[in-house]
Amino acid sequence: MPSKKTASNLLENRTILVTGASDGIGRAAAKCYAAQGATVILLGRSAEKLESVYDEIINNGGATPAIVALDLSTATPEDYSALAETLEGEFGQLDGLLLNAGILGERKPLAQYSATVWQQVMQVNLTAPFLMTKALMPLLEQAANASVIFTSSGVGRKGKAYWGAYSASKFGIEGIAQIWADELANVSNIRVNVINPGATRTNMRASAYPAENPDQNPTPEEVMALYLYLMSDESLSVHGQSMDANHFER
Ligand code: NDP
Repeated sequence: MPSKKTASNLLENRTILVTGASDGIGRAAAKCYAAQGATVILLGRSAEKLESVYDEIINNGGATPAIVALDLSTATPEDYSALAETLEGEFGQLDGLLLNAGILGERKPLAQYSATVWQQVMQVNLTAPFLMTKALMPLLEQAANASVIFTSSGVGRKGKAYWGAYSASKFGIEGIAQIWADELANVSNIRVNVINPGATRTNMRASAYPAENPDQNPTPEEVMALYLYLMSDESLSVHGQSMDANHFER
C-alpha cells in the first residue's frame, strides 16, 4: 500500500524552481517547499542573497538546493535554453515552476511613465516568465504531474490609476497563464494556475505603499497555504485558475 503523504513530506522527491527566491514571497516559498521535502532551485539576480536562503534551507534540514544567478532583466532565449540544459543534466525533470520574480516600476500616471522603465518592467514581469516557461516545458513534460504557478496581482485583474507597466504586465500574466492552460488541457499532465498573493509584507509592498503600517499585512510565510496547495498533489485537478492567497483555506 502506498504510504500516505504527511504534512511535512508533501513535496518529497520533487524538483521545484522558484524565481525571485532571494527575498519576500519567493524566499518564503522556497523555504516552504524545501520544508516539505523538495529540492529547490533558487533563481535570482544576487548570488549572495540566494546563498543566505541556501544556508537557511540546509540549516533547517532541507535537501541541498541549487543556486541559479540570472538577471531576468537581461536574460536572453539562449540563457533560458542553457538553464534548461543544465537542469536536464542535473535533475532530468522539473516537477514545479513558481514564476514569482517581479519589479514594481514607477507609481506614476501613464502620461508621465518612462519608456525605459516600461520596458524593464515588461521584461522582468512578463517576457521573462514566458521565455522561461517555454524553455522549461520539455522538462516539465518529463514529470508525472508538473505544476506551473504564475504570479499576478489585484491590478492584474482590474486596472488602477498610477500602476502603469506593473498593472499591464500582470494583465499579461493572467493572459499567458490562460493560453498555456488552454493549450495544455487534455494533452498534458502539466497544470497551470495563477496566484495573486494579495497585500503581503515585503519590500515591494513597502515601496508601493510607503505610508502604510507594514504590520497590517500578513508576512510571506502567512500566505504560503495556497503556494503549497498548488504545488502539491492536492491540487492535481486544478488547472487554469487564478486564485487569491490571502485567506485561502483548503
Ligand atoms: P520582493 O521585491 O520582496 O521580491 C522580488 C523578488 O524578485 C526578489 O527575490 C528579487 O530579487 C527578484 N527579482 C527582481 N528583479 C529581478 C531580476 N531582474 N532578475 C531576477 N530576480 C529578480 O517582492 P514580493 O515578494 O513582494 O513579490 C513577489 C511577487 O508577488 C511579484 O511578482 C509581485 O508582483 C507579486 N505581488 C506581491 C504583492 C505584495 O503585496 N507583496 C501583492 C501582489 C503581487 P532581489 O532580491 O535581487 O531584489
